[in-house]
Amino acid sequence: MANGNRAGRVAALAGLTALLVAGAAGSAEAGAATPGALSVGDRLYPDLGNGGYDARSYDVSFDYRPEVTTMDASVTMRAVATQSMLRFSLDSAVRQVRSVLVDGRPAAFEVTGEKLVITPDRALARGREFTVAIGYVADRSLSPASPAWKLPPGIKNPFPVWQNTPDGFALLSQPDRAHVAFPSNDHPSDKATFTFRVTTPADVDAVASGTLTGKDRHGDRVTTVYRLAQPTPTDVVQIAVGRFTEVDQAGPHGLTVRSYVPDDRPDAAVGARRTLEQLVWLEGEIGRPFPYPTYGVLGVDSEYGGVALETATLPTFSAAFLHDPREAATQVHEMVHQYFGDTVAVRSWDDMWLSEGHAVYYQSLYQDHIGEKPFETGMKERYVDVNNQQLEQEGPVAHLNSASGVLSGSDNGGALTLYALRNLVGQNTFTRIEQTFYDTFRGRSASTQDYIAVAERVSGRDLAGFFQGWLYRATTPPMPGRPDWHAKPAPAN
Ligand SMILES: [Zn+2]
Repeated sequence: MANGNRAGRVAALAGLTALLVAGAAGSAEAGAATPGALSVGDRLYPDLGNGGYDARSYDVSFDYRPEVTTMDASVTMRAVATQSMLRFSLDSAVRQVRSVLVDGRPAAFEVTGEKLVITPDRALARGREFTVAIGYVADRSLSPASPAWKLPPGIKNPFPVWQNTPDGFALLSQPDRAHVAFPSNDHPSDKATFTFRVTTPADVDAVASGTLTGKDRHGDRVTTVYRLAQPTPTDVVQIAVGRFTEVDQAGPHGLTVRSYVPDDRPDAAVGARRTLEQLVWLEGEIGRPFPYPTYGVLGVDSEYGGVALETATLPTFSAAFLHDPREAATQVHEMVHQYFGDTVAVRSWDDMWLSEGHAVYYQSLYQDHIGEKPFETGMKERYVDVNNQQLEQEGPVAHLNSASGVLSGSDNGGALTLYALRNLVGQNTFTRIEQTFYDTFRGRSASTQDYIAVAERVSGRDLAGFFQGWLYRATTPPMPGRPDWHAKPAPAN
């Protein structure tokens, strides 16, 4: 859900806001209807997200043609108005918006910066469900950097959303770039279900987050349909095109375990075949069944931005790294995100430690499990050698200095916060906190305060001071139960 029209950001969009307010005042039939907010008021991404409605589902279509970088595309968003609304916006940085229909009727629209502002022919009543169908052109040669990153002129975007490969592409949307590929309410507080329809030449595959529900051949082209029925944030859905080899494993309790590696990287299948063992281990460690009905890794025939991403049901890796045994722990990291990050999404980008901290914490347990590094050793290294440096560079774990910091700036401190909590309350209570948090917020978005509230309720302790020290200060607190650990000061710069 999106609300909270923060004054500071609206000032930045003053021209547009004035236009919207004028529209509201000038409309005779508007009554109490007002424009939806142009932002959800995220501290780190102040222009991101949109108010006035709750997106429920997206149906995204791409028409892929290898010879051109443009794709005819469409997205239909089904949403519920949370206020009576004259106009509303979506985040959009697509090449060209061609048409907008609201409930099947043409609507006026305007693109301003990265906002697509839509004026339906009549106001939308509060509580009403509506659909917006947008026809547009996507362009895989255009990957603008996030405006919130404020990259100096001449600095190349380090994480292009369109990851182009020799025979297709994949998306790298985190944290706020999904709306370069499809207009959307592109903030993790507004999760939705998805349908993806990708049309390709018949000899090229399309894969996406969710469950394969159809392949429709027409002439020399084929439309592949995936459905993701679990509410998921926009930044962690994957849509990829290429020539892929399927790697199937027999999953537990009916789960489909299916990975995709590029045809010309058969060695990547070694990594794909780690999936089943890791999944069984992780389910046991978290004590909860895997949240999605299908899972597998996607190897992409590029460096994939030098990162891996927790795209839902189909986390994304550079195919060139997957054969390497050192990639195994990263695979578990992205698997953990399916629980924490994708299924329990973050409420704001300040809460990203809830996603990254969990991923690193369980990843470290897995490294212990496979004999790569004892868990205590890993946590001690993070505490002694790394933490003050990361705090110095990135800022407090739940109040980072910069928008770009959300990608990995909270991972070390986030994992240590969970480890410190475990040491403080004991393993059994910690496990109950984790499971209660997951069960409570499954399918929703959760904030730092939500986690603290669960931890206090389950443990029966006042943990305000504990979390204040670990999450909101730029110095490392003493580690409970480890009085002999001393965090090294950050190197002077
Ligand atoms: Zn991560």
